[in-house]
Amino acid sequence: MISFGEAIGQHDVKSRLIRSFSEGKLAHALLFHGPEGNGALSLALAFCRYIACASRTASDACGHCHTCRKFASIQFADLHFTFPFFNKQDNKSTVCNDYAREWRDFLLKEGLYGEVENWRRLLDADKKQLHVSVYEAGSIMKNLSLKAYEGGYKFQIIWRAEYLRRDTANKLLKIVEEPPDNTLFIFITDSVENVLPTILSRVQTLHVPAIADKDLAEALEAAGIESARAEGIAHYCAGNWNLALQLAGSSDPHAFLAQQFQLWMRQCFKRSASELVRWCDGISALHREEQINFLDYALEQVRQNAVINYAGGSLARMNALEQSFSEKFAPFINHLNIEDLYSEINRARSDIGRQAYSKLVFFDLSLKVYRLLCRKEPA
Ligand SMILES: [Zn+2]
Repeated sequence: MISFGEAIGQHDVKSRLIRSFSEGKLAHALLFHGPEGNGALSLALAFCRYIACASRTASDACGHCHTCRKFASIQFADLHFTFPFFNKQDNKSTVCNDYAREWRDFLLKEGLYGEVENWRRLLDADKKQLHVSVYEAGSIMKNLSLKAYEGGYKFQIIWRAEYLRRDTANKLLKIVEEPPDNTLFIFITDSVENVLPTILSRVQTLHVPAIADKDLAEALEAAGIESARAEGIAHYCAGNWNLALQLAGSSDPHAFLAQQFQLWMRQCFKRSASELVRWCDGISALHREEQINFLDYALEQVRQNAVINYAGGSLARMNALEQSFSEKFAPFINHLNIEDLYSEINRARSDIGRQAYSKLVFFDLSLKVYRLLCRKEPA
């Protein structure tokens, strides 16, 4: 997905980038910010390829020249990446280059929509602290001071700029402000509030919104997902392609239900009306039988969590995904709320069976569930 044509949706962002370049108004440091799964990295790479391609068209790189081919396998010599990492054993001066192989694997295998959690898993960095250390700043400066191998632009992509440590950022300030000729920095973040202000003040920011439902559904259909299911998943994923792929790829319908249920409970606890509405939109986009299936699953989860709470985990019938969620969730299901949870979910189930307006039923149910979960046994 290293071309504008392949990057999902984001038509406005694409045309803004192309316009800034073709009109000669390109800043030398950009920051793409927006929610997870929006494809910012994919757009950044497509843009670099577009700039580097000698036979670009009005809307995209040519796709077959020498440069384009190198981009496709992520082997373009003037394309540098910085990303969060952890120090290798006994090597305080670890830099991104030491992870070049893993990083290329990540991009080629997980695709360009992977998130920090996917990267962390690939690195096997479960409990290790990811960061971008000051040694990496030195490495960036060295890379960019060299003459361009390919004779054109040099690109430095800094993925997850919020991981730049303060000393790292400070060391970079000068080169970000006054980079060598034909150098483009692209910072990427999904939490702009955590990017250091010294960096923010030196970049031109570009908001990359969540992918539009319509574009997400189209991309799922192109990947062979049946149209109604594609729409349901697209609604549900709120523009996050990574999540959409996970759901579409889970051939286990049980896993799909578990993910829905866990997300629902998290949204209930968060009490963010807008996110809850969004979730209700998604679940209501499923077929009615699927909605009922989901509520049956929810009933079963309530029951199993009560079992865990009172009789311990060994008696519950759960898979690993459910078990890990229940470690925190089970204590919320207790004798003060289980009967009411049961009857509210059952009522919603029969309302939906009677063709009631699903969005409203789910929203109403969510508020009730939240209130019921607040009933806790005294410690
Ligand atoms: Zn080309």
